[in-house]
Amino acid sequence: MYDHNCTLCELHATCKTVCMEASGEPEWPGMVIGEAPGANEDERGTPFVGRAGRVLDRALVASTNMTPKAVRQRLIVTNAVKCRPPNNSTPTAQQLDACVVYLEKEIETWDPVAILALGNVATITLLGTGGIAALREGEHYLNRKSTTRVFVTFHPAFVLRQGYESDVAEMFKADVAEFVRYVRRRGGR
Ligand code: URA
Repeated sequence: MYDHNCTLCELHATCKTVCMEASGEPEWPGMVIGEAPGANEDERGTPFVGRAGRVLDRALVASTNMTPKAVRQRLIVTNAVKCRPPNNSTPTAQQLDACVVYLEKEIETWDPVAILALGNVATITLLGTGGIAALREGEHYLNRKSTTRVFVTFHPAFVLRQGYESDVAEMFKADVAEFVRYVRRRGGR
């Protein structure tokens, strides 16, 4: 599913982990999709293990009463772009277009009941449109024929900048909890 010798865009030349694999198992039929690996992720070779990852973990723990490790093992976590953009720059349209083949393979392989899109880049990649504040209120599906529900929420790095006591943090926690409830109910586990 992944090509660690990928050269579809130029990002392979500057990152350590080329074509980062998703983490977790599809124990629950849900996928969490972020933007692109940061420095910690590139170094350790797996998604959401830095500060943004801890924000995500806190929300997952709050909605499950499980340890971060236990909940992360049960969900697939990945990114729209699989290689770290230098200086954490926002992936370009060309990089996103090149890399989407991997995301498509991941979605096809795990066929999730629901996806949680973290931030605008993941949301635009999945739904073709952005604007988290409005989209997080709606009911979305991957496409007109798909039964895969797409939940939209803020990127955890944005939540971090707003602070844990902010309204954004409260909305983020509520969105993560709604997504987790949905996949657990539909997953029958
Ligand atoms: N931000 C992301 O979007 N993805 C990661 O894996 C880490 C930080």
